[in-house]
Amino acid sequence: MKCPNCSSKDIGKIGVNQFYCWNCFIELSVSKGMIFTHQVEEDGSLSSLDDLFEEDNRRISGEF
Ligand SMILES: [Zn+2]
Repeated sequence: MKCPNCSSKDIGKIGVNQFYCWNCFIELSVSKGMIFTHQVEEDGSLSSLDDLFEEDNRRISGEF
């Protein structure tokens, strides 16, 4: 699995199906073979970044 935003493989697991990219500091969650991306705002809320990516780039391919 690599980050759909920066293609880094420096992904840390933070919960069940939840991951964090240490390179670009976005949160990733995985559901039904798709990666959902979230940015943590300054006030602690999450905003979706999914609009920035094509579905193909968010689909999990290969080993996990
Ligand atoms: Zn990243």
